[in-house]
Amino acid sequence: MAEVISVVNPATETLIKEIPVDDGAAIASKVKRARAAQPAWAATPLSERIEAIKNFRNLLVEQADSLAATLTAETGKPITQAKNEILGTPLRIDFFIETVAKVITPQQVYQEPWQAMPGTGDLEEVIAYEPLGVIANISAWNYPYFVGANVFIPALLTGNAVVYKPSEIATMTGLAIASLLHKAGIPPDIFTPIIGTGLAGATLLKQPIDGVFFTGSYPTGQSIATAVAPKLIKLQLELGGKDPAYVCNDVDVPSVAAGLADGAFYNNGQSCCAVERIYVHTDSYEPFIEKFVQTVQGFKLGDPTHPETYLGPLSRKPQVSILKQQLQDAIAKGAQLLCGGQPLDRPGWYLDPTVLTDVPPEMPVMREETLGPVLGIQRVSDDAEAVALMNDTAYGLTAAVYSSKRERAVKILEQVSSGSAYWNCCDRVSPRLPWTGRGQSGIGSTLSTLGISTFLQPRGWHLKKC
Ligand code: NAD
Repeated sequence: MAEVISVVNPATETLIKEIPVDDGAAIASKVKRARAAQPAWAATPLSERIEAIKNFRNLLVEQADSLAATLTAETGKPITQAKNEILGTPLRIDFFIETVAKVITPQQVYQEPWQAMPGTGDLEEVIAYEPLGVIANISAWNYPYFVGANVFIPALLTGNAVVYKPSEIATMTGLAIASLLHKAGIPPDIFTPIIGTGLAGATLLKQPIDGVFFTGSYPTGQSIATAVAPKLIKLQLELGGKDPAYVCNDVDVPSVAAGLADGAFYNNGQSCCAVERIYVHTDSYEPFIEKFVQTVQGFKLGDPTHPETYLGPLSRKPQVSILKQQLQDAIAKGAQLLCGGQPLDRPGWYLDPTVLTDVPPEMPVMREETLGPVLGIQRVSDDAEAVALMNDTAYGLTAAVYSSKRERAVKILEQVSSGSAYWNCCDRVSPRLPWTGRGQSGIGSTLSTLGISTFLQPRGWHLKKC
């Protein structure tokens, strides 16, 4: 009997669907077909590739309601946030469409005047760009449209074939994305979904591919890097974070507290760039705690299909017990529970939004990626202590500083190791800026012009007239 993925609704714990997985032979055959089809796709005029991606963009908008319902059913993401993600994706697509020509156009970097070297002819030097070929896109479940589109849209626009392994937790969404891309005009062998768990991902890595673009956790990223090292192919890893925010003593505390509560708990804290640690200057500490806890307690938790729900269930069942264990440990070692942490009398993989303080910095809650509705707040006496604590992590995805003074915030952020630096904002992604990490948050960049050129390999042309 064929192996299947059982798609379970995290809010009701009921089985939605069973989807057959791809075995090794199917994966090998899909990669082979992608390889055979890719040269013709690379030779297709850019305007035609853009047209197909524009069609995909329009289909996303047209079908946003039903796509959001699917995403909510399989991941538990509140319906309003699911729709926000789907309707936010066209902004990224538009950036890629508007920018790709500039990035792939060959650049003449030198032209020798013919008079310069009589008898030797003109010399021209050009940098040209070619697609990598067939790339593996192994993806995460928490923002399947955003993190998927960050990779497969520029990869397709630049002439690559994409073999796409959606997360097993967002399989229905992965299949919906593939179906829309094909409907939009992307040939089926140029964008091929592979269905399965990590095993299917690992099998994909053994195929003759030209690059791996992975979004997921640090441990999986590390094992992927090890597995593909002998291939010497392009490797890009967008991994997790333990993102800190620091609140200085010169801000409007209530508005900062409300903004940070959203940055920490949006999508149930299941964002790579969710704020997971907050350091507050001692002068602002008490009013900050009061407003923060009040805001969190005001979040509506419950049925993710309800438009007013802000917090749904967690997408992964095991994470509920992992987080409960971390909470118990932290409380046993002296952390103060400000809110949450209570059992909920309902089916589904729910966890009450939880705020802790006085958590020793060495506790897992302050060190390991939580990827859930649990957050630690710590009092600090000055900016230097905040910098030291913000840097006390193996990750480095984003860091935020709240201050009324730009110079003060920039000076602090310059001392913190992170791919994105936020002044008076957090949990924010822009298509125009590189999305990148330091340390265990990954290697390489998506978005911005760098997130397009990453799918290309340069070629140096030395052109001499005889
Ligand atoms: P995960 O590492 O468990 O899985 C990611 C993908 O890898 C899945 O498709 C999975 O099937 C596949 N996989 C698992 N083992 C594999 C193996 N040995 N070989 C090949 N593929 C394998 O991560 P997840 O739970 O899906 O996603 C959550 C993580 O992703 C968090 O750490 C989050 O911070 C991170 N994330 C990062 C970004 C970013 O832009 N930096 C964005 C979204 C999510």
